[in-house]
Amino acid sequence: MNILVLNCGSSSVKYQLIEIETRQALAKGIVDRIGMSGAVLTNMRSDGDEIKITGDILEHTTAIEYILAVLLSKNHGVLTDKSQIHAIGHRVVHGGEAFSASVLITEDVIKRIRDNIDIAPLHNPHNLRGINACQIHLPNVPQVAVFDTAFHQKMPPHAYLYGIPYSLYTQHKIRRYGFHGTSHLFVAQRTAQLMRTEYSKLKLITCHLGNGCSMAAVDRGVSIDTSMGFTPLEGLLMGTRSGDIDPYIILYIMGKEGLNSSEANTLLNKHSGIIGISGVSSDMREVITEMKQGNKKAQFAFDVFCYRIKKYIGAYIAAMGGADAIVFTGGIGENSSDVRKACCDNLSYLGIELDEASNTSKEKEKAINSPESRIKVFVVPTNEELMIAIDTVTICNGLKPN
Ligand code: ADP
Repeated sequence: MNILVLNCGSSSVKYQLIEIETRQALAKGIVDRIGMSGAVLTNMRSDGDEIKITGDILEHTTAIEYILAVLLSKNHGVLTDKSQIHAIGHRVVHGGEAFSASVLITEDVIKRIRDNIDIAPLHNPHNLRGINACQIHLPNVPQVAVFDTAFHQKMPPHAYLYGIPYSLYTQHKIRRYGFHGTSHLFVAQRTAQLMRTEYSKLKLITCHLGNGCSMAAVDRGVSIDTSMGFTPLEGLLMGTRSGDIDPYIILYIMGKEGLNSSEANTLLNKHSGIIGISGVSSDMREVITEMKQGNKKAQFAFDVFCYRIKKYIGAYIAAMGGADAIVFTGGIGENSSDVRKACCDNLSYLGIELDEASNTSKEKEKAINSPESRIKVFVVPTNEELMIAIDTVTICNGLKPN
């Protein structure tokens, strides 16, 4: 069974065609610069064949048409007929309170995703464009929506309510939603397999550290708290996002620098975080390189980044009344032994101790705690596309008559 997994952004569509039996991507790629001059489709086949196609791709319907053409092409494709795509799984960023699990896309689901545009104006419209494009090009193929927010929908009110008038929650849906849910769920379930323990019996702290960063407290299978909030801006320091700040700072800076709300938004989302403090880059690799050469601001950025993760580890141990394991994932979490070391440094009194050799070894999926460490520490590569494909298959299999 082949599942086309789509992640539609404002100017890009990322895709993978996953063969569910082998759990492998037969092909993957990206259409970049949609709506701009010189859009590029890059397709990589699992055997290493790579092709780039440049053209004018003005909107998502054309992007999906190009993707299908390349997947079906004689020289670079992997399919001989469209009917070999059995289902489509869409990453949808915001399910709001309407969705606590993945769903088959129907007209009613589309309407409810549209209803959430108000709280996710940067993402949901593009996700809907992708869904619409597939209805045009693959009209008889079932489509499933997998939400970034769904895994966190079981958070209790004390974790999702903010200290602002309750009417703002009821009228404007202002609450913590949390994001990266697919990744947190994937690595939490994989960690349970690695620990050979039932997922529903473990208390896990999952740290997704990529360009965007978030953590979740996964208490016996339920995300009971997470660091991102109403939007992905809250919580950890990120590549270009500030994470937690005193809300008054925004009002103060808007006054001092004469910024309007759109400029304040750009400041917090694009010019803050790792790049904001270091002045070097949003890329952690470059920041670490500079830091090791004595760049002070790069050192500050690294220190703030890791210190905040450490604080959330402490908070989530308190929230769950203990933890069985901490899991690192995402580009930084999977690759930076320096970051993992700094985040877990001096936590032995909580029962967290790393093993230096395991932490720095080349293995991609591994335990990195010392034998004495009461709380285990893992590195688990995330695979959100596979998780989306699995959910899509589960839902589509439920549609089949017995
Ligand atoms: P996205 O959130 O866009 O999916 P990724 O999960 O790929 O991003 O993470 C990107 C981040 O991972 C970048 O900050 C990059 O610097 C960082 N990263 C990748 N490899 C390393 C490494 N070896 N050491 C430190 N950081 C790394």
